[in-house]
Order: sequence, then structure tokens, then C-alpha cells
Amino acid sequence: MTAYTSSNDAQSNVQNKIQGDAQVSAQPLGKVYLVGAGPGDPGLMTVKAKSLLECADVVVYDALVSEPILNWISPQAERIYAGKRRGRHSLSQSEITGLLLKKAHEHAVVVRLKGGDPFVFGRGGEEMNDLLLAGVSVEVVPGITAGIAAPAYAGIPVTHRGYSSSVIFVTGHESAGKYRPDVNWDAIAKASETIVVYMGVHNLQNITQALIAAGLDEQTPIALIRWGTRPEQSKLIGTLAGIVAQVETTGFEAPAIAVIGKVVNLHSRLSSVSPIQNEHWLMTQHPS
Ligand code: SAH
Repeated sequence: MTAYTSSNDAQSNVQNKIQGDAQVSAQPLGKVYLVGAGPGDPGLMTVKAKSLLECADVVVYDALVSEPILNWISPQAERIYAGKRRGRHSLSQSEITGLLLKKAHEHAVVVRLKGGDPFVFGRGGEEMNDLLLAGVSVEVVPGITAGIAAPAYAGIPVTHRGYSSSVIFVTGHESAGKYRPDVNWDAIAKASETIVVYMGVHNLQNITQALIAAGLDEQTPIALIRWGTRPEQSKLIGTLAGIVAQVETTGFEAPAIAVIGKVVNLHSRLSSVSPIQNEHWLMTQHPS
């Protein structure tokens, strides 16, 4: 089976290619596409990802994939929810891998659909490795990660010539998916001018304290962006010293991205031109 090499394929070419792959293959196994759905706004999904949803035989999807994107799945396709949200694990990681293996033996086009990018805190690397070890063809289709898109829609560029030359992505929930424990907040505080934290809301007190202990000013700006790029996007802006109290008083909840650094201050100037005016969302919600 040939893998795609260009991310610029026109939609029809992509579809022909996918179907062609499946037809010419004499092997009994189908192919698993590890697809990034982006952060929620369907307009931010790639052409390739949309084409795959439209021709998939099976779609195994996660909790953070938005409804308008699920509407692109072909009505004939089997849909399987494999969501994982805090405290509500529906399928274990090994069950998901087992399921993908089984489906790859039964169907030509199996899509594993994940929020954002599959390789950014999405366990895509592990799933791909397990499937490859089991002899299944796998291809990754990158997506726009929430750590860039949610700040952007909130008017926060993660780098800026005047304020930040570096950005670091880090998990705030160290045990999530068995990411390597002991995130070195001290090193992170010193290494990058912008820090983007995934899954950080529940551990925010420890994170902010660790960053202050590492030398960051208590008044360093921080933004929390919940459900970024969706119509229900909301944000909370504060300082390292004050944000935890704000989260408590407002009842702010996950899922959210935290952005720390001077770039946060740009939100007041840039969020007025935020693209989240719902037109795109509405336009793409009802596929023809
Ligand atoms: N693979 C995903 C990240 C999965 S980890 C990606 O590349 O975006 C799950 C965490 O991502 C959530 O806890 C939250 O911190 C963040 N996240 C995902 N989608 C989000 C969104 N639309 N808005 C804000 N945060 C989001």
C-alpha cells in the first residue's frame, strides 16, 4: 500500500486514492488512518481528514471531537465512541487498540479520529506503534492542535516578535495516559517565553506555584481558554498568583488550554478580530 505524500491533494484525489488503496490491496487487512479532527471548529479540519470521514467504513472517535465534524461521517459507516474524559473512561487503551485491529481485519478504511492533532498528547504514537507491530498499515493525518488554535481564537499568538521567541507545550496532568511523570516546571519556566499547558485546569494550583518557585513573576499573565474555537468558547485572564482564585469563583472548568507569558496581554487588542463569529461553524454544520 502506498502512503500519501502530499497534504495538498484535492479532495477528490484523496478519495480516489483512499478507495484505490483499498481496491488494489491483495492483503486481507485494511488500513487505519490516525486522523486529527482539530480543536472543534469544523472549518479547521484538513481536506484530507474530511475526505477520510466521508469514505470510512468505521470511525472510532474520541470525546473531544465536535458534533459538526461527526456529521461528516458517512451514514453507512459504523461509529464507535472510544471517549476518554476525566473519570469516565469508556474503553481502555488496550481495548481501543484491540478494536482497531479487529476492524482493520474486517474493513478497508478504518479511521481513528482524535481531537486536535493525534501526536500531541493524543496517544497517537502508542496506537500507531501497536498497530504497526500487529502488521496493520497505519497513516497519520495531522490536525490543528488546541494549544495553538484556542489561543489564536482568543486573540493570543503563541509567538510574537515583540514578546516571545519560544513556545513550549506541556501536559499539566502528568498521569494522563501515563505521560512521563515529573514534568520539570523549573526547567520549563526558564526554557520558554510562552508556556502552553494541556490538561492543566485540575492541577493549576501546583503548576502556578511551581512556576513562581522557579522564578516567574507572580504577575505573569495567564489565559485559560475553554472549548476553544467552538461557539461556546470562553476565557479567563489573570496572573499566575491570582488565577486559581478566579477559577474557583467563576467555576471555570476543563477542557481548557492554559497560556502563560507576555503574549497573553495581546488578547485585548487581537481578540476583537477573533474568527469565532460562528459563520464558519454554521456554514459547515449541515453538510449537503
Ligand atoms: N490531541 C489534542 C490534545 C488532547 S489532550 C490536541 O492536539 O489538541 C486533551 C486536552 O487538550 C484537554 O484537556 C484540553 O487541555 C486540550 N483541548 C483539546 N481541545 C480543546 C479545545 N477545543 N479548547 C481548549 N482546550 C482543548
